[in-house]
Amino acid sequence: MNCPACSHSLKPLSLGGVTVDVCDGGCGGVWFDKRELDAFDEPSEFADPLLGIHRDPSAVPDGARHHCPSCTGIVMMRHFFSTRFEVEVDECPGCGGFWLDHGELEHIRAQFDSADDRQRANEAFLARNLASPLASMDRDVQDDMRRAHRLSRLFRWACPSAWIPGKQPWGNF
Ligand SMILES: [Zn+2]
Ligand SMILES: [Zn+2]
Repeated sequence: MNCPACSHSLKPLSLGGVTVDVCDGGCGGVWFDKRELDAFDEPSEFADPLLGIHRDPSAVPDGARHHCPSCTGIVMMRHFFSTRFEVEVDECPGCGGFWLDHGELEHIRAQFDSADDRQRANEAFLARNLASPLASMDRDVQDDMRRAHRLSRLFRWACPSAWIPGKQPWGNF
């Protein structure tokens, strides 16, 4: 598998029973298969080898959208990791894997004490910004429906499943 950011060949690295793929000697990024990132995104979880990956300072990611290193022909989505809007990550809509550039894992781990904290912050954000406008919308008004749909898609990465279109207690949108 090659690095989606600098094309260097990725090296497997096993850590606590999980094997991730690192761009060791390239840009220093890390590829996490679906749900593997969950094992390393909290500060209490051991991730030291992932935080000190040897990198070539000249292999700087160019900022372009990356193709998934695991799927063929799928461009990854770039979105914020949490509703703090600090770290942007790449997620593959096909396989659910995550690509983190050098330094992004460290930044993610510094944002919240635990995944629960992150979830609480996301929910507070959503309640402030989405729940009341959505709940007060007239569900028969097409424009409001379209707006609700767009908002929920925009924040899909932060949404608990109840917010995914089709799963609302008050009906689909
Ligand atoms: Zn790389
Ligand atoms: Zn993929």
